[in-house]
Amino acid sequence: MTEALRIPTAAVSVWEQAGIGIPTKYWAYEPYTPNDTEVWASSGCCNGECTCLGEYDGVDSTDNCSVALYRGNSNWTQNPRTVDGYDYQAVLSHEFGHCLGLDHEDDVDALMNSGYDGHPDGIDNRFLRKDDMLGVRSVQGHASWSLYWRNPGDSSWNSSFNGSSLWASGSPGVAYGGGFNGWNLIGFQSSSGLDWVTTIGKAGPTPSSWTNVCGIWHDNTWQTSRDGVAVGRDVGGTNYMAVAYLYKTNGYIRAVRNLYPVAGGCGSFALMNQLTDTDFITRRRPALTYNANNSRLTMAWIDYHTGLIKISTNSSTNNSTWVSGGGQYYNTSEYTDAPVGIVCGYWSPTASTKCFIAFPRLEGDHYLRLCRLTPYSNGGFSKDWCSNSSYAISNVPPSIRIANDNTVEIMVPYFSTGSSAPIRKYTYTESGGWSQYSSYGSTKVGMAIGGGVEIKVGN
Ligand SMILES: [Zn+2]
Repeated sequence: MTEALRIPTAAVSVWEQAGIGIPTKYWAYEPYTPNDTEVWASSGCCNGECTCLGEYDGVDSTDNCSVALYRGNSNWTQNPRTVDGYDYQAVLSHEFGHCLGLDHEDDVDALMNSGYDGHPDGIDNRFLRKDDMLGVRSVQGHASWSLYWRNPGDSSWNSSFNGSSLWASGSPGVAYGGGFNGWNLIGFQSSSGLDWVTTIGKAGPTPSSWTNVCGIWHDNTWQTSRDGVAVGRDVGGTNYMAVAYLYKTNGYIRAVRNLYPVAGGCGSFALMNQLTDTDFITRRRPALTYNANNSRLTMAWIDYHTGLIKISTNSSTNNSTWVSGGGQYYNTSEYTDAPVGIVCGYWSPTASTKCFIAFPRLEGDHYLRLCRLTPYSNGGFSKDWCSNSSYAISNVPPSIRIANDNTVEIMVPYFSTGSSAPIRKYTYTESGGWSQYSSYGSTKVGMAIGGGVEIKVGN
């Protein structure tokens, strides 16, 4: 995929966060085909008005959607953090909203506002807001993807758990809980009529023995983001798990600790403090991991209007408070427009515990970026280095784990033709740098890798 196609691909795929399935005819292909979305650039101005950035040209006889960007007197950029620039991707996401059937909304904050919300919050133009999610769901309906599983190393996916197919949306989560005799805890958001449920289940030692532990938090249609669920081991040891997800479409993170499977339920789970402070509002699914070295649950998320990646841990003495060193969170000084993946574990090249975050760069190349961080016993962090891979990815959190104490494994779907998304596996070692494995499998939404099972939501 050329860089020119990565931008519109990322721009349209952000709408999947609302839980819709984007019809194939709205994807852009290369080369263009008669029945897809066509994006073209014009040197003039639209309708004689040179403040106009882009225009949706509707459905004509040859293309299912046609979008124009006007180069007239605008300062276009591929980096939404550029001061005084107009972001290609954000404007395209807005125009694709028209393709998907949405009109302008100027009464509330929305991607579908008719005006471009300038800097310093320019990156916010790439994220859906509550009104955008509700609108596109009402027009397009919701998608129900199959939930698949496989054992690590397998090349093919199994489409049913315990003989029954499960339907889901967003990026699933999985974590290995050794205390469950080799079982894994998985989380996903599923459809039940108009309601959406964050479902927690256990799967394993072979996932064919899937057990539904609990369907928690029936949220009204407007409340739950369909961006998926993060799952991690918890502070209490191998018996306990934690989950986090976007609780409401206005960006609050809900995190739940002390989950453990018992007959007919999730045990006496505990809510983390509701993260209503603006520092903890996000636009995309958060990520969870467990640092066994300092016994802390660790969460990464994207700041809701700057794209800044933040990290925090729960206090080992206060089960419901997010802390990091001397403050509430650690500022990574890294930016992204898509969900981040995180893992902490023993790293033999430094003979110490390290944390890794992986995420797509927000610039037009959308390279996969990996950063190594040092976690401290007080919950704080420092950043050691970051490294970019050479390949484009988009829209869902990379699944990341440490293998053999010295290799970071990252698996991500990537969009190669505009609509299909094979899964790529990347590895990183301190001595050898990046390697890329052959792609295999396919997904439209996301995947997660745990210690004993890999799961994906998609097709
Ligand atoms: Zn518009």
